[in-house]
Parts: sequence; C-alpha cells; structure tokens
Amino acid sequence: MKWNIVAEYISLVILAIIWVYARKGSHLPTLKNRTFQGCLVMSFCAILSNILSTTMIYHYQQIPCFLTWIVTSIYFILTPLMGLSYFLYTVSVIYHDNKELRKVMIIAFVPAVFYVVLVMINPWNHYLFSITSLGYTRGIGISSTYIIFYAYCIASIIVTLKNMKHMDKTIHRILSTFPILAVVVIIIQQIYPNVILSGSAATCALLIIYLHLQNKQISLDYLTSLPNRQELLSMLDIMLRRNPEQDFVLMVISLRNFRQINNTYGQPIGDAFLKEVSSFLNHIGPKQNVYRFNGDEFALLFTHVNEAEMKKCVEVIQKRMKHSWKVNDYRIYLSHVIGAVRHLDHLQTIEQIINAIEYAINRAKVNQEEEICYCDQKMLGQLERKNQIIQILKEKLEDESFEMYYQPIYDLKTQQFIHLESLMRLNHTPLGSLSPAEFIPIAEETGLIIEITYVIIKKVCQFINDLQKLGIEHKLIHINFSAIQFSQPDLSEKVLQIINQYHIPLSSIEIEFTESTLAKSSQVVNEFALEMMKHGIYLGLDDFGTGYSNLTTVINIPFKTVKLDKSLVYAAMESHQSSLAIQHISSAFQELGMNIIAEGIETVEQKDMMEKFQINQIQGYYYAKPMSDKDVEKFLLSYQKNNPI
Ligand code: C2E
Ligand code: CA
Ligand code: CA
Repeated sequence: MKWNIVAEYISLVILAIIWVYARKGSHLPTLKNRTFQGCLVMSFCAILSNILSTTMIYHYQQIPCFLTWIVTSIYFILTPLMGLSYFLYTVSVIYHDNKELRKVMIIAFVPAVFYVVLVMINPWNHYLFSITSLGYTRGIGISSTYIIFYAYCIASIIVTLKNMKHMDKTIHRILSTFPILAVVVIIIQQIYPNVILSGSAATCALLIIYLHLQNKQISLDYLTSLPNRQELLSMLDIMLRRNPEQDFVLMVISLRNFRQINNTYGQPIGDAFLKEVSSFLNHIGPKQNVYRFNGDEFALLFTHVNEAEMKKCVEVIQKRMKHSWKVNDYRIYLSHVIGAVRHLDHLQTIEQIINAIEYAINRAKVNQEEEICYCDQKMLGQLERKNQIIQILKEKLEDESFEMYYQPIYDLKTQQFIHLESLMRLNHTPLGSLSPAEFIPIAEETGLIIEITYVIIKKVCQFINDLQKLGIEHKLIHINFSAIQFSQPDLSEKVLQIINQYHIPLSSIEIEFTESTLAKSSQVVNEFALEMMKHGIYLGLDDFGTGYSNLTTVINIPFKTVKLDKSLVYAAMESHQSSLAIQHISSAFQELGMNIIAEGIETVEQKDMMEKFQINQIQGYYYAKPMSDKDVEKFLLSYQKNNPI
C-alpha cells in the first residue's frame, strides 16, 4: 500500500510550535504540567517515528532490515503510549495531585507494559508485523495496537463522564473533545486507509488542550510575563500538600504610590516601569519563583530557606531601589516596602499565608519602613486578633447587635445639652470591650463600616424617637461617616430613605466626617453636602486642625459646624500664639455662618478658654462622657429637670 504522510509532516511542525510556546507557560511542578509535556514528547516521537518508519519501509531494499525493524517497533510502541499519555493527562486534570490519582496511574500502566512486551517479542513471532526482503507485512495481532490506543481514549471518556459533577464545565468540555476527535479520525481513516491521520489527531487534541488548559495566558501575567498570582497560589498549594514540613519564605515587594507614576507620566510609562522592575526582580529573585502578586506588588518565593541568600537578595533590591529607573526619557524614583512570612511560623494554609503577607505589607506601609517587615509571632498574634475582630464585626452587623453610645455636647449660649454625638461601641465580645480606635480602622479597611453606618443611622433614628416619647429636649444627633462611605454611588438616596422611614425631622441628624475624608474626595463630598442640604440635613467637619484639609475646600463646602480637634485645644493651652490663631480661625468660621465645637475638653481651664474664645459648643469629659442610650436618657432628663429652659 502507498501511504500518504503529508498530514504527519504538517502535524510535526505544528507540534514543534506548540512545544516551544508551552515551554513559556506554567513551570509549576504539577503532574498536569508534567503529563502535558509527556504528551508533547510522546506525540512528537510517535509522529517522527511514523514518518521515518514509513519512509524506511518504502526504501526497504536500500536500508538494512534491522534498522527498519527498530524504527517501526519504536513507532508501534509509541502509538498506544500516546493514548496512555492522554489518559494520564486527563486523570491528572481531574484528580489533581490526590492519592486516588496514584492508584489510577499505576493501573493505567498495566496494559501498556503488556503491549510493550508484545512489541519486544514481535521479531520472533511476527504477531504485529514483519519486515523481510519482500517488504512490510501486517501480523494477525496488528489490531491490538489500535485497540490499546482506543482503549485509553475510551477510558479517558469514562473517567471524564464519571467525574462530570465535580468538574469545571470548560474542562469537562475540553477533556471530552479529544477522545471524540480520535474516534472521528478512526472513521475517516477507515474511509481513506492510505492517508495516515493519527499524528494530526494527536496534534489537534494537544492544540485544543494547549489553547484552553495549558495556555501561557492562564498562568502568566500579560504585562510582565511573570507567573501570576494564581500560579503562586497553586505553587503554595503544591508545596503545602507535598511536603508540609518543608520550610519556605514568601516575600512581597510592594511599590509605594505607584498610582502617582501612572497619573504623572501616563499609563504606558507606568507599564514600561513595571516591566523594568519585574525584569530586575526576575533576574535577582529565586529562579522561576518570582511572581506578579498584585498590580504593583511582586512576590519572591524562596522554596528552601537559606538566610544568606535571602539577605543578599533583599540587600540588592534595597540598593537598586535607591537609584532611579530609566523609562523612555524619564528618570523615576520610587520607594517600596517589603513584607515577608515564613511557612513554619504556624502558617498552615494558603489563606493564612496570604493574610499574613498582606498584613506584613500593610504594617510596613503604615510604619513608613524601608526595612523588610517580617510577620513574626507577635504580628501573627495581632493578625489573629484582627481576624477575630472582623468576625465579631460581621456577627454584630448581621444581627445589628452592636451598641451606640451618645456623648452630650454642651451649648454655651443656651446652657443646654441639645446636641449629642453618636459613637459606636463593641462592649460585649469574646475579646471583652473593644476600643473604637481599634475596631473602626478594621471596619473601614474591610469595608464593613459602610453597612454598619446604615445600621447606625437606623439606631440613631430609633433613639431620636425614644427621646421624643420621653419628652427629652434635643435638637441634633451627630453621626460619624468614614471616608469609604463616600465610595457609595447611591449614598444620599440611601441615607434619606433610612431617615424617612422613621418620620423624624431630617434636621435632627448631622453627618460628621473628618478632614482626611475631605482631602481624599472633596468633589464627591461637596455634591453629597449640597444634596443633603436640600433636604435640611446638616454636615459637620470633624477633627479640624489635624492637618489634612485645604482651607479653601473647607470654606467652599456648606458645613453647619466645624469641630476643633483636641490637639488644637491642647495647643491653645500651651502657647499664646496658637491660642490667638485658634481664636481668629474660629471667629472667621463663625462669620461664615458656621458653628464651632471644641472637643476633648477635660478641665475647667480648657472650658474657660473656650468660653473666652466664644466657641459655640463644647464636647468633652468635663461635661459628660459617652454613655449608653439608657444612661444618656437619665442624664438628659435630670439635667432638664434641674436646668429648665
Ligand atoms: P471622633 O469622631 O473624633 O470622636 C470623639 C472621640 O473623642 C470619642 O472617642 C470620644 O469618646 C472621645 N472624647 C470625647 N470627649 C473626650 C475628652 O474629653 N477627652 C478625650 N481624651 N477623649 C474624648 P471614641 O468613642 O473612642 O471614638 C474614637 C473615634 O472612632 C472617633 O473619633 C471616630 O473617628 C471613630 N468612631 C467612633 N464611633 C464611630 C462611628 O459610629 N462611626 C464611625 N465612622 N466612626 C466612629
Ligand atoms: Ca466625630
Ligand atoms: Ca473628632
């Protein structure tokens, strides 16, 4: 018979291209990646041996018979083994790295071993084929080659179908494709027996797998070509599962204020800069273990702990970061922080490792450290506490069971406590009473404060109703808003909707936010303030004097009140100059129609000074501490009785 092997030549070229590209993909030592490489090698060798054997059989008279035997035997061995390698790939995708996989793999090798023995003894019994001086002839058992190959294909279909439920739909579709492809090829092969298509079928199957499951875009970051965060997580998973006792260190280099580079020079320069940094880190970091962790963060995974090597690496990074980076015609300086965690420091799961490293980076940023911030036992303890607080916040938010305290604010003109500030409390928790200074930043960082604030508005409205029922005179309750609250596009609608449910005058609520909020998003705050004003809800600026806001921004936003921060009051007590400055700033605000509140007043001297400055209202321990709703009701009732208006 004259075989047509053109398709085999083309397949060989395509396979070589896939092979080259696949080498740039994932380097994780997973069984899936290894069996894919195995599939490529096996298919490549099978096609090559097929081409060689066919050519040698044509020219059997010129080529020594034993050589043709050897090459043809290799082809006979490799063709069913190609089926085996696909089967192994299928099971490695389905079962990942678990124990069942080993069992399935061992069983899978049994028919292959028998078949190889069959090929080995073929020169004696000519069961599969024979090559004599008259040429190539098929043996009676030739169909066993195809039977084994297709048995592996059918086994792949069965395993895929059996595990359909636990599988991702795309993976399932892809895995089902290639055995079906093989069946189609057999049918075509039956119709055109002289056209050899087995290599093309294998190449098509590998192309489909490559494009969908092994493509480098799945594992590499598009910009820097470094393995991405998902690859890092998979690598950590492999390390934790294969050898939980093996220590390793994960280091993350986070660039500070990277967004500023994008804003100043434009995104293309920002991207080019990231590429520069990534290629530097890839060069000096642990081989094949440098990852793009986040937009402006890179991870180095030291799979074996070698203190000297890691120290050297950190020194090189720190030294390099002191110099500028040249991108196009720009010279850019950028500072960085480094966070690090070590596996054997009681970090057992990926989640714990990632939480710990993110905590270390945050701490390094907060501490303004250029040094590496290593998440040690103490920090892990703090992280554990933080996670517990997050849990408490979630639970308390879920059943709205956190408490609100109210601190009366004294009005100097009317000599009444007609304003109150609402302050959130977590008094009864498994960790005891928690200070707002501890839990508010956590609620802000996790975004939980957004929903918490909506519940606070409800609680405050309910409290205003209670005060009305008790006949307690009051005008206004201040509610604190965190900066992150202004990220909500429907903030004003939601606030109005909640307050309107309680049928209280809208003017009995004042929303307080800090100078830092103003500095971050003055435009959004301004729009919100105008919208609230339309409905008669007042806005107040908290912590004035902590140094964030631009005076013109403050003046342009229609605040009802400005609250002088404690630090200003203390400064006024300390120096004459400060006292003069505060007095003048206060009267300037008052002339603009704003009320001035002084907070943190603890002593009679402080109170006297504020009176002298003709401040409108005073808040502080001197008059009253924050109290529970019941206590503040008692406090206001008794004050009202003793000091009628
Ligand atoms: P803030 O808004 O500046 O609240 C005033 C803080 O000063 C309160 O602390 C209050 O108890 C305290 N304070 C009042 N008078 C005095 C005084 O005479 N001396 C001293 N040393 N302190 C005084 P608190 O309740 O611990 O709250 C701390 C911060 O936590 C608040 O500062 C606010 O930024 C935040 N916070 C508290 N509750 C809430 C809330 O419901 N929502 C939001 N977003 N933040 C809140
Ligand atoms: Ca406040
Ligand atoms: Ca304040």
